Amino acid sequence: MINDNIKIVEILSKSKTIAVVGASDDWKRPSFYVMKYLQKQGYRIVPINPRLKGQSILGETVYETISAIPFSIDIVDVFRPPQECPDIARQAIASGASCLWMQIGIESDEAAAIAQAEGLTVIMNKCPKIEHSRLSGLLGNGGFVSGLLSARRQTVPTPPIPLRNGGYVESNNPETLAVHAGTRPDGATGARITPLYQTASFTFDDADHAASLYDLQEPGNVYGRLSNPTTAALEQKIASLEGALGACCVASGHAAQLVALYPLMAPGRKIIASKQLYGGSITQFTQTFKSFGWEAELVDINDLDAVRVAVLKPEVALLFAESLANPDGTITDIEALSVLAREMKIPLAIDNTMATSVMCKPGIFGADIILYSTTKFMSGHGNALGGAVVDMGSFDWMSGRHSSLLTDPNPSYHGIRFAETFGKLSYITFCHASVLRDLGPTMAPMNAFLTLMGLETLPLRMRQHNENAAKVAIFLREHQAVTKVSWAGFPESPDYNRAQKYLTYGAGSVFTFVLKDGYKAGQKLVENCNLLSHLANIGDTRSLIIHPASTTHRQLTDEQREQAGIGAGTIRLSIGIENSDDIIADLAGALGVVVSGST
Ligand code: PLP
Repeated sequence: MINDNIKIVEILSKSKTIAVVGASDDWKRPSFYVMKYLQKQGYRIVPINPRLKGQSILGETVYETISAIPFSIDIVDVFRPPQECPDIARQAIASGASCLWMQIGIESDEAAAIAQAEGLTVIMNKCPKIEHSRLSGLLGNGGFVSGLLSARRQTVPTPPIPLRNGGYVESNNPETLAVHAGTRPDGATGARITPLYQTASFTFDDADHAASLYDLQEPGNVYGRLSNPTTAALEQKIASLEGALGACCVASGHAAQLVALYPLMAPGRKIIASKQLYGGSITQFTQTFKSFGWEAELVDINDLDAVRVAVLKPEVALLFAESLANPDGTITDIEALSVLAREMKIPLAIDNTMATSVMCKPGIFGADIILYSTTKFMSGHGNALGGAVVDMGSFDWMSGRHSSLLTDPNPSYHGIRFAETFGKLSYITFCHASVLRDLGPTMAPMNAFLTLMGLETLPLRMRQHNENAAKVAIFLREHQAVTKVSWAGFPESPDYNRAQKYLTYGAGSVFTFVLKDGYKAGQKLVENCNLLSHLANIGDTRSLIIHPASTTHRQLTDEQREQAGIGAGTIRLSIGIENSDDIIADLAGALGVVVSGST
């Protein structure tokens, strides 16, 4: 059994003829459109189906068995149940084929052992159409990770192999992925930077091509509300950095939450979410989603007993938390939550906006879906709104606690079940093909372009943000005007141990501190900063400062504010990548004014 991307490229590159066992003549069946796709890519397909023996599918004669084929074949692609696979493996060996390929949902260790013993390459639970389109970059409907990096032009189909390793390298290093993943030189022009495809729509080759795209039988771009090549490159980069299967980029972080939840929720279903969330998310979950009939219950995410009781309720469809919470810096015990979610057969979704995949990989600790406001550190320059839904591919949608839009027949796509048709790729495919299509919170291509540029320096920036934040936090702790600094890098912080377990590079660069002299002192401080920008954002290259009590939390009563962890003198900082001496000097100057009482 192989899963190695380069090996699959090799097989698909050197093969010319593919026998398809269980070939259907019905255009709505996967075997039909897989054959059609492969034929279009230049492969000769050979349909095998005893019922249709002697007839013709897609211009090719149908044979009764593999043994009846009078010429040599390279791959045997199997659309039959696992119990038939050992016999098919024996026939594949006798035919001289070099690869036994079992489709999505089909696995047989016995067949694999038989074929491997005779030197055949075995692939299980995968589709050659999806693998070919994923690895050659043809997949327009979603940014699925190819796992392949290359500085060579995109050529389709992938060239035969005189190139070393087919022209690809594989790497899991964030610095390399940030620069290369998803962004090969453009096939048509050689442009080294992924072009900004500033177009609303994409032309069809002919009527048949248009129909296949609309039926999701062929990968490609139809209309900018569903997909765009610049955005697909970004999706691949984000998913690669996460070690995930794929991603769906959308208009904002809030849009990401809507898109991520939509496939799983229904009226009467409930989200269990952390109390320690970004305030805007709390409003979205508890107030706005209510009108969809979606319920939300907030729990103290550090109280695992309370979380356990909450997720036991049968209507619960999802557990949601932030890895590193905005603004109070709480660090979530992702691994413990994932155990609870798995027991209840519900997915665990983690908003990783504040940490990014460079500092924290929630998937390693069992998160199934990871969300981003890419507006923050991911794009990193405060110039592009965006969001991302990332699928680790770890949740088995077919055996979840509830049926869902992924498992139910979809009337808008001829009754297909996404989980059945697209296997592991069903969630992200559904996010594009159904949620973006019908709800429309699509990322603007320009924002995808800017975010792609920003991401190239993400690892460098995150290191610098964290180094600077540590120095600023230490400076503030020593200052006479400050009573408390909420930064998890201090050993006395209640989050210190979790910071050591879950975060690399530091304890984050967004944190709060409290001024002894309260509300007026807070306002005076922000007004006297000259280098730190006074605004409501985080994760910019620039250092940012805000006094929540007079801005983001001003509508709340004193009591509500205190509950949200925001006192009259609380200040939120997002430390940038300037020289730390200059950031500290600016804060020291402004704090001097606060202490002296002058203006
Ligand atoms: N998640 C977190 C942790 C955030 O801080 C924010 C915004 O501040 C969001 C989600 C929402 O993102 P956006 O503003 O891009 O909609």
